[in-house]
Amino acid sequence: ELARRSEAMDRGDTSELRTASRHAYLEKRKKMKVEEMRDEIIDNELIFDGVKMTNAEEEEFRRRKEIYELVKDRVGKDADAGDYYRMPEAYDAAENVDQAKRFAVPRQRYHDPEASAARDGKRSSFFSEQEAWEEQQIRKSRLHFGSGDGGRAGGGYELVLEDVVDFVKSTVQSGAEPDGEMDELAEAVDAKVKLQRELQDERKNLPVYKFKDDLLKAIEKYQVLIIVGETGSGKTTQIPQYLHEAGYTANGKKIACTQPRRVAAMSVAARVAQELGVKLGHEVGYSIRFEDCTSDKTVIKYMTDGMLLREFLGEPDLASYSVVIVDEAHERTLSTDVLFGLVKDIARFRPDVKLLISSATLNAERFSDFFDEAPIFKIPGRRYKVDIHYTTALEADYIAAAVVTVLQLHVKQPAGDILLFLTGQEEIETVEELLKQKMRTVGSKIAELVICPIYANLPTELQAKIFEPTPEGARKVVLATNIAETSLTIDGIKYVIDPGFCKLKSYNPRTGMESLRVEPISKASADQRAGRSGRTGPGKCFRLFTEYNFRHDLDDDTVPEIQRSNLANVVLRLKALGINDLVGFDFMDPPASEALLKALEELFALGALNSRGELTKTGRRMAEFPLDPMLSKAIVASEKYGCSEEVVTIAAMLSAGNAVFYRPKDKLVLADTARQAFHAGNVGDHVALLNVYSAWRESGYSSQWCRENFVQPRTMKRARDVRDQLEALLERVEIEHCSGAGDLDGIRKAVTAGYFRNAARRQKDGSYRAVKSRQTVFVHPSSGMADVPPAWVVYHELVLTSKEYMRQVTELKPEWLLEIAPHYYQRKD
Ligand code: ADP
Ligand code: MG
Repeated sequence: ELARRSEAMDRGDTSELRTASRHAYLEKRKKMKVEEMRDEIIDNELIFDGVKMTNAEEEEFRRRKEIYELVKDRVGKDADAGDYYRMPEAYDAAENVDQAKRFAVPRQRYHDPEASAARDGKRSSFFSEQEAWEEQQIRKSRLHFGSGDGGRAGGGYELVLEDVVDFVKSTVQSGAEPDGEMDELAEAVDAKVKLQRELQDERKNLPVYKFKDDLLKAIEKYQVLIIVGETGSGKTTQIPQYLHEAGYTANGKKIACTQPRRVAAMSVAARVAQELGVKLGHEVGYSIRFEDCTSDKTVIKYMTDGMLLREFLGEPDLASYSVVIVDEAHERTLSTDVLFGLVKDIARFRPDVKLLISSATLNAERFSDFFDEAPIFKIPGRRYKVDIHYTTALEADYIAAAVVTVLQLHVKQPAGDILLFLTGQEEIETVEELLKQKMRTVGSKIAELVICPIYANLPTELQAKIFEPTPEGARKVVLATNIAETSLTIDGIKYVIDPGFCKLKSYNPRTGMESLRVEPISKASADQRAGRSGRTGPGKCFRLFTEYNFRHDLDDDTVPEIQRSNLANVVLRLKALGINDLVGFDFMDPPASEALLKALEELFALGALNSRGELTKTGRRMAEFPLDPMLSKAIVASEKYGCSEEVVTIAAMLSAGNAVFYRPKDKLVLADTARQAFHAGNVGDHVALLNVYSAWRESGYSSQWCRENFVQPRTMKRARDVRDQLEALLERVEIEHCSGAGDLDGIRKAVTAGYFRNAARRQKDGSYRAVKSRQTVFVHPSSGMADVPPAWVVYHELVLTSKEYMRQVTELKPEWLLEIAPHYYQRKD
């Protein structure tokens, strides 16, 4: 064992090696079939230091091991075990629910017809689903109590009936339920009341509860307060409720609570609405990009930090808020860092506003220093001992290693749920599929494993699943991105598996290129992750890297996003808020001046700033769109080329997610043929996206059409919502609706007007050279242009996997560059 370890170290457990082996792994994985991956997994068992088993456990293990061996032999014969792509059955089912929900939403409930119209169609399906369910419950309870006129019953039923009042006013229900269902109805109501009682008990058990009064006193006394507490102590869900109860919303003002992540904002809002016994979107709501689930009743508003930033545009003093909570401050996202400067400023001229900065890390002094020595309120956490185990050797293929570890834990360790950290949706889906296959082959011989994925684009109705209690005798494994590190707390987790990676934005100020990369996490992150296992009792954390790695290769802290981002978006935002002196802006950690300069240059080239660095009319219009400056520019420019309708569609499709097409394994040829049809004439990926959307619209937005064409209905629905909102914004910034029916060059020129920096020229060897950064790049194999590579292209984005790939590629005429961006392409480097 020792020899093995020292050999691993000798081989050089350095970060370089880790990165190199990761690349090798990615290369390999691309070629690997699922079956092969599975075989490989079965063959390797992982060895951790110091996992000790008690005798009883050993006994149990031996028994299970036999089963395990049995299974091992069976695997491999099972030829058609699953496919790599999700779809379509699961989706169809979910989709039909969606359809039903659309009609279940009573529109007249909103008092403001304009807001209502804008909101129509963009509420989440979670909201609607809950609504549909509640409506049903309420219909039942109305019958039960005979309070059809909205009258109130007392006692424990009040919470239920509060909903009734609301619904009776807003919906017209006809017909009655048969009498025979009465008992069932009573049961349903009882269950809801019981759930409420349990929820209230749970609230009182959270660490923050004991400090409620002290906390409220401190908030009353100080304008700015830093709040520090372990993850899961109740900061996010409880504090806004305490403030609400204490009267901070009595004056018609709201409480804002920002979250770095969309999923967290939605999920936490749903939880708080449930705790308060109100409908999500009423008193408690959330606001995330392209989705506003609030109403004029809303007093507790969870929102992404980016959305609060946008609200400054319409309300520079945030006058409608009495309290602003910048939550998860330790995450130091780009938007949070900019918010720091802005809210600090507001606090100075609005003595009535309260500012809370809440963070999970103990080193809160930095926040206090920044906010003029604001006092720090510590919520003593409860955290149990966590045993940390490392692998004894380097694990290059951490996906395979993670799958093995989950199964090992499942068969060997006592009860308790598992949390596995992965870097993104693709990895999560891969692991989910592998685990499902494994469990299928084992059949009923070992305990059930409930697999719960959670990532940003996960359909809302599935997100709630991770919080459902694990069934008796089963074990839950949560496959999560970084979101579970501090933003979301899942009760019952006893084991954490940490491969040690996450997706991080990185930025090269020299080339001006930004890309998402899978990078090793920091020590602070690794410790946060480990801590997730020790919330309700002693826990165990299994790190899929060596102790040597941990000590020598990981940085202490993650670099704040502001120091590794393209700042064009932020600079445009700040300029639109009238903040011209960016160097003098109050940043907690100022970005490199080189990066600021690059951003100014980029905005100047886009025509958003004039030569004095002032916002132009184009810039002002661009700032209205919740999109990257390049995409906003393409939209603004589309007016000139007479194709705003088309470009808005393309922008919506690009913003709706990468999963437009899918390829079921048994229908590869059909799927590829369907897909190629949209590319007919080598129109380029942008126009192909437009073709997809147009055809879908012509089909009457039909799901059947999606299935026939191997297009993801969910992505399309999202694109439709996004498109509706972008279209509304066109009106706001007075861009004419125009359609250049068939003028593809006009569309391509508009795209180029935004993306001229992303021009690339084909080389002799078939690769491309990015014109400005001189990087060698390649057309992504999924592109329609992959087989017919033109001499010049413009691309939407770069993604780094085994190579630097251009995704969404369209042909370009080089003379357009001079016509569209003369100041950019004539200047000598
Ligand atoms: P903190 O912000 O201090 O990390 P939270 O307020 O997020 O803590 O969490 C407090 C408790 O609320 C946790 O026990 C967590 O499990 C529970 N909780 C939070 N969100 C949800 C949700 N969407 N569903 C169920 N429980 C939740
Ligand atoms: Mg929180």
